[in-house]
Amino acid sequence: MKEKSTIGRREFIQYSTAGIAFAASTKAAAETLAPASQEKEECNEMITNEVDVLVVGGGTAGTIAAIQAGRSGARTLLVERGPQLGGTTTTGGVAFPGLFDAWGKQVIAGIGWELVKESVELDGGTLPDFSKVPKHHPTNQVKVNQFLYPLLAEEKCEQAGVEIAYYEFPQAITRTEKGWQMECGGFGTRRRVLCRQIVDCTGGAEVVGLLDFPRLREDETQPGSILFRLGKPYQPGREGVIQSIYVHGADSTSSRTVTAANLKGRKDLLAKVRAAEGKARLLHRQPETSFRESYRIQGETMITVDDYTSGRVFEDAVCNAFYPVDLHTKSGVRPKPLKPGTVPTVPLRALIPKGSRNLIVAGRCVSSDRLANSGLRVQASCMAMGQAAGAAAALAEAGATTPLSVPLKDIHAMLRKHGAIVPSA
Ligand SMILES: Cc1cc2nc3c(=O)[nH]c(=O)nc-3n(C[C@H](O)[C@H](O)[C@H](O)COP(=O)(O)OP(=O)(O)OC[C@H]3O[C@@H](n4cnc5c(N)ncnc54)[C@H](O)[C@@H]3O)c2cc1C
Repeated sequence: MKEKSTIGRREFIQYSTAGIAFAASTKAAAETLAPASQEKEECNEMITNEVDVLVVGGGTAGTIAAIQAGRSGARTLLVERGPQLGGTTTTGGVAFPGLFDAWGKQVIAGIGWELVKESVELDGGTLPDFSKVPKHHPTNQVKVNQFLYPLLAEEKCEQAGVEIAYYEFPQAITRTEKGWQMECGGFGTRRRVLCRQIVDCTGGAEVVGLLDFPRLREDETQPGSILFRLGKPYQPGREGVIQSIYVHGADSTSSRTVTAANLKGRKDLLAKVRAAEGKARLLHRQPETSFRESYRIQGETMITVDDYTSGRVFEDAVCNAFYPVDLHTKSGVRPKPLKPGTVPTVPLRALIPKGSRNLIVAGRCVSSDRLANSGLRVQASCMAMGQAAGAAAALAEAGATTPLSVPLKDIHAMLRKHGAIVPSA
């Protein structure tokens, strides 16, 4: 199914003649150095993958997109720059996905819910009762064990036939007759991916940016946060909120901006630990700052805050979303709950970069104005978008077309088959 080819020994030898000549100079040296040079050759191997669907970013949305594409029969590769699946849900430590319910019933289900539910059950936890309408929307966020969730996610990828490439990220993309060619880099790995469809789930629409499709960004973005536990032991999956500090100016755009956010967050945390004067120990710290906002795509349509707060059911709606309007600023956040009965929806066209073909996104980069995005960016909605994007990409591949041209009824049927809730007009 997946083709693997090496760029060839000869090419490698051209780059390593000096080492080989030295190795040949004495038998002892050759014996010592030969295995090392073989290892080096493997290390620099050019891998070529030919797949149907390439998902970039194995976070909240991307994990679900890849599983859906794989389950739909598409040969799927998932490229993730980090060491595990789950993104903000796991590496960021925001292990309380919401909201799967609204006004006393479940409005988002499918593969994201399957993963969340199984990780709670395997962990011996309890699920919220969705038949009850809580006083505050976020009460029904589901507390998951951030250490267990990625293990189950990997298992589901494997079962769906999804190949995972960690520690890699795209460096160049070109259009080909059949779709795309993407060059990915990682340490010791060079990978060329030939694919028909790309699903960009990088959070900040990085593939869309590489391809020069338009993206939107505010002059001042919402702060990121670094999550930690100072003084009180942390029970993953039991306690929903661990402590956090805002990282103002946190920006997920590049390795430089992410480095800066991590350094700043950790410096502030160190000051907090010092201020505790040994009375409270630092017991837990997430490895990365998590990011609320960077780029959003300019899609074939844009979800406005009026669409969001009125619960507009788009004619091409592929999933529901639910959360208060939730914009964090320098002075904090005052969530604005939705009016009773309101359930916003996400249209397929908000996942498609304007003017693109064979490209779709899912997650917080969904085409939306800033206020609508502050509600749409939450995890259950990102997971639902991921499932929809994975289905649309797989169906586009099967029909030799682009996601925007896949009949909506086929996307809906595929989503329902895999347990998702599809909005009805
Ligand atoms: C502090 C904080 C608190 C929040 N609170 C809540 C809450 O209470 N409830 C809730 O539901 N939501 C909450 N959210 C929002 C929610 O967690 C995120 O908006 C959502 O998880 C984003 O999902 P995503 O898939 O778009 O991005 P992510 O989950 O961030 O996934 C993006 C993935 O792409 C990878 N990636 C990025 N660039 C590349 C690249 N170039 N190549 C390969 N891989 C790449 C990343 O490593 C990551 O794994 C919160 C967010 C933050 C930051």
